[in-house]
Amino acid sequence: MDFNLSDEHRMLRDSIANFAEKELKPIAEEIDREDHWPEGLWQKLADLGIMGITVDPLYGGAGADILSAALVCEELAKASAAVALSWGAHANLCCNNLNSHASDAQKRKYLPPLCTGQHIGALGLTEPNAGSDAVNIQTTAKRNGDHYVVNGTKMFITNGPIADTIVLYTKTDKGSGAKGITAFILDTKFPGFSVSKKLNKVGNRGSATGELILQDCMIPAENIIGQENKGIAVMMGGLDVERAFFGTYALGIAEAAFAESIKYAKERVQFGKPIASFQMIQQKLADMYTGIEAARLLCYKAAILADAAKKGGKGTEVHQISAAAILYTAEMACRVCEEAVQIHGGYGYCLEYPVQRFWRDAKLGTIGAGTSEIRRLIVAREILGM
Ligand SMILES: Cc1cc2nc3c(=O)[nH]c(=O)nc-3n(C[C@H](O)[C@H](O)[C@H](O)COP(=O)(O)OP(=O)(O)OC[C@H]3O[C@@H](n4cnc5c(N)ncnc54)[C@H](O)[C@@H]3O)c2cc1C
Repeated sequence: MDFNLSDEHRMLRDSIANFAEKELKPIAEEIDREDHWPEGLWQKLADLGIMGITVDPLYGGAGADILSAALVCEELAKASAAVALSWGAHANLCCNNLNSHASDAQKRKYLPPLCTGQHIGALGLTEPNAGSDAVNIQTTAKRNGDHYVVNGTKMFITNGPIADTIVLYTKTDKGSGAKGITAFILDTKFPGFSVSKKLNKVGNRGSATGELILQDCMIPAENIIGQENKGIAVMMGGLDVERAFFGTYALGIAEAAFAESIKYAKERVQFGKPIASFQMIQQKLADMYTGIEAARLLCYKAAILADAAKKGGKGTEVHQISAAAILYTAEMACRVCEEAVQIHGGYGYCLEYPVQRFWRDAKLGTIGAGTSEIRRLIVAREILGM
C-alpha cells in the first residue's frame, strides 16, 4: 500500500494550489461579501484545463481520474469553497455525468463547449418537495412526437441561474417510483425554461444557487441520457462519484481553518504567552489534525474506488465508502471550523477573519449531495445487506 500521490497527481495538486493561493485567496472574502462571481473567473479555471477534468480527451476533456478531480476540489476549497462548489457542479455533476452516461453523439455536441468553459453546466435533481426522497421527484416529461414536454420546478440548483447545459431528472412514469425516472440533457435556451430566483445563502456566497422553472419546456427525445425510465442508474452512479468527489470540498475547508488556527494560536498572546502554549488549545489543534488526516485517507480511497467502479470494478464498496467518506469529512469539517472560531475567540466571530466564512461554508457539506442522515442510512444498508 502506497500512501504517496503519484508524480502526476502531485504536479496537478501543486499547480492548482499555486493558482488558488495567488488568484483565489485574495478575492475569496470579496466573493463571499458581495455574493458575486468575478468576471473572467470561469475562463481562468478553463485555462487550467480543469473544466472537463475527467472527460475523455475525444470530447475535449483532460481524461484524468476521479482522484485528480478530488485533489483539484480540495485545493480550490482551501481558498474559496464557493469556487470549488460551482466548479464541482460543472465538472462533476454535469460533465462527468455526461461523460459516463451520454451517447457518443450527445457527448460530441455538448461536452466540447463545457470543457473549454464556453458553456457552464449544472445538475437538476432536487425539487421543492423532493430532496432526500429524490425518487419522489414530481417534474413530468410527456412524449409528444419527437419531443418531450417537461413541467416542474427544480430547487437549490448550483450554477442553475447561469447554466447553459443541465443534466435534468424527470418522471416519465409517475406511478413507477424509481423505475419511472428519465434523465435528459437540457439546453437552457430550450423554450419553456426559466430561472425563478437566485437564492440568498448563508455560505458559499458567490456560487449561484437557483430555483428553476420548466413550463411546457420542449426537450428533443434525442436528449434522453440512456433510456426512458432508466434514469435511476444515471442518478445512482452519479451520486457515488459526487460523494467521492465532494468529500474533498469539506476537507479543503477544514485544512484552511486548521492553517489559520495554527497561525493565530502562535501569534495571539494571553497571560503573557502565545495561546498555542496552553494545553487546551493544543488539544484542539491535535484533534483537528487527526480528523483531517483520517478524512483525507477516506476521501482518497473513495475517489480511487470510484475510478475502479467506473472501469467495471466492484460497485457496492464505492457506494458505502463514498457515503462514509463524505459523512465523516463533512462532520469533521464542521467541528474543525467551529474549533477554529473558538481558537480565534471574539475575533473569530468577526467578519474580518476568514474562519467564520469557513464555518458557514463547511455546513453545506452535511446537507448537499445527500444529508448526513441519508449517508448514514446508505452505509447502514450496505453493511447490513438490507
Ligand atoms: C447550496 C446548495 C447547493 C445544492 N446544489 C444542488 C444541485 O446542484 N443539484 C441538486 O439537484 N440539488 C442540489 N442541492 C440540494 C441538496 O442535495 C438537498 O438540499 C439535499 O439533498 C436535502 O434535501 P432537502 O433540502 O429537501 O432536505 P429534506 O430532504 O427535506 O431533509 C430535511 C431533514 O430531514 C432529514 N431526513 C429526510 N429524510 C430522512 C430519513 N429517511 N431519515 C432520517 N432523516 C431524514 C434530512 O437528513 C434533513 O435533516 C443543493 C443544496 C444546497 C443547500
